Amino acid sequence: MRNLQIREVRCKTLLHRLEFGGSSGYTANFYRGCCHGCVYCYVPSLIHDERDWGSFVDAKVNSPEVLAMELRQVQKNVVFLSSATDPYQAPEARYMITRRCLQVLLKRGFPVSILTRSPLVLRDLDLLKRFDWVRVGLSISTVPDKFYEPGVSSLERRIDVLKRLSSVGIQTWVSLAPVVPQLILTDLERLIEKLAEAGVSSVSPGILRFQGYEESKTMFERITGTPSAPLMRGGDEILARVQGLLRRYSLDCSDELLRWSAAEEYLNLDQFARSR
Ligand code: SF4
Repeated sequence: MRNLQIREVRCKTLLHRLEFGGSSGYTANFYRGCCHGCVYCYVPSLIHDERDWGSFVDAKVNSPEVLAMELRQVQKNVVFLSSATDPYQAPEARYMITRRCLQVLLKRGFPVSILTRSPLVLRDLDLLKRFDWVRVGLSISTVPDKFYEPGVSSLERRIDVLKRLSSVGIQTWVSLAPVVPQLILTDLERLIEKLAEAGVSSVSPGILRFQGYEESKTMFERITGTPSAPLMRGGDEILARVQGLLRRYSLDCSDELLRWSAAEEYLNLDQFARSR
């Protein structure tokens, strides 16, 4: 965490309504900023912060209290952690905000979908195992190295995390994003084979796109010293290849972010009643 500025801040609201494909839910970001500092990150274009991306994290230290209050006012639906930060980036080891918010969500019986690049998620296995409905996703791009993702753990480590989660019965998925069509620094077939071996249930591929994310495009081009447009060519072909590989290894290709419905909850309750 060299040169990382951490600020403790207080938030007034947390939950934001999220529509995703045919599903809906909420998203909550307990941190502002992300010390993983991925060079392709779309978040700088959303939050417009003058500080260098990757160099700052604002920890919303009152998140558990705010979340508890907000959950009392909304209908039960899946809460996605997180859409504009990594809930398990390094400061979480100290602040435990995500952990304390999971405790709040567990107590109120809300389903949770997590997306992270960090092995720290394993710290909260004790809580995750107690949710009726939980999904944990790991993000994997086609450029999984320190130049493009300076604060992120190695690809092998992330695959180990997926294995560990699956081994204790937690349903896992992978956000295979961004896929940079002309920048594939990993053997895609071997990667997908390893994901299948790690017990991953679905993989959701996403091509890098900078339309509408000008700040992110500028950041990417400045850091890499490369115009981004030529790197995007051949997106449809690479997507078709990935989908073919997913079929070959029997991996579901639909998005797992918010695939929860009240019907599933009733089913769980029904099963619970019958199992007593
Ligand atoms: S982990 Fe996610 S939020 Fe953090 S810098 Fe990387 S892409 Fe952005």
